[in-house]
Amino acid sequence: MKSESSSGRSKQGAMPPCAACKLLRRRCASDCVFSPHFPSDQPQKFAIVHKVFGASNVSKMLQELPEHQRSDAVSSMVYEANARLRDPVYGCVGAISTLQQQVNILRNQLALAEAEVVHLRMNDQFNPSTSPTDAVTSTSSKQGYFPLDMMDQTDLADSL
Ligand SMILES: [Zn+2]
Repeated sequence: MKSESSSGRSKQGAMPPCAACKLLRRRCASDCVFSPHFPSDQPQKFAIVHKVFGASNVSKMLQELPEHQRSDAVSSMVYEANARLRDPVYGCVGAISTLQQQVNILRNQLALAEAEVVHLRMNDQFNPSTSPTDAVTSTSSKQGYFPLDMMDQTDLADSL
């Protein structure tokens, strides 16, 4: 036992095993595919990826990739694994579709706001701003905004 650990140490140059090898209780070789991406001070990072994808799948996926793409792949797997734990049904697809819905909602709001701008500009052309009826026009244009806003809300309810 004692001689094993001392020989391991001399090979690895006093480096602790990476988080993956530590969790899998195996020796961390110098060419360990995990060690550049799963440092021993971040055990949770590998634990999550292992729980969702399985260590052997992660190892296979990393070995199929050129080395310069591996750290991006690890970031992506860690992100996906976290999303999968938060939302076991949809994973990161849940986040993507929520964001797509927000984009659609914001696009609708933008289109309505742009229509409102066109509407106000047309009103300005027909009403000189110096007239005392200006206050009346501005309130009427504000009133015009609210029905549009309500329409947006019903659109939302329909799309959801
Ligand atoms: Zn290792």
